[in-house]
Amino acid sequence: MKIKVVYSKEAKALKEPIFARAIINTGIEINVLRAEIDGEKNLMLIDVPKEGVEKFTDFMNKYKIEVTPIKESIIMDKDKCIDCGACVSLCPADALYSDNFSIELDETKCIMCRACIDVCPVAALKMENI
Ligand code: SF4
Ligand code: SF4
Repeated sequence: MKIKVVYSKEAKALKEPIFARAIINTGIEINVLRAEIDGEKNLMLIDVPKEGVEKFTDFMNKYKIEVTPIKESIIMDKDKCIDCGACVSLCPADALYSDNFSIELDETKCIMCRACIDVCPVAALKMENI
């Protein structure tokens, strides 16, 4: 399950290896999909096994780090898509790919950067609540 982790510049996560501790202490394997660290408001998009979300959230909350489940997903409207391929080269996560001249989407790989949405000439891609 994809979750968003947000912490401020005061958070210990900037000075201490909180994420490494979270993995060691909870035993939960996390996968960092995207990170925007600028020192002020820092954001990470993390994939956590569904059964580990509560435990991971509890651990991070002890450090006053905000954890929010992602409730949206990229959707492709295959009826609108004209298989132009414009979105494929822009996708940093290989979530969009060509399969036998048809452009396909693997939502599980999406890191929600939204780059594909703006480039699509027929508005076949959008974020939707799940
Ligand atoms: S939002 Fe679009 S471009 Fe970005 S990772 Fe997801 S599918 Fe790829
Ligand atoms: S940019 Fe839009 S129309 Fe072109 S392949 Fe991607 S989803 Fe389909």
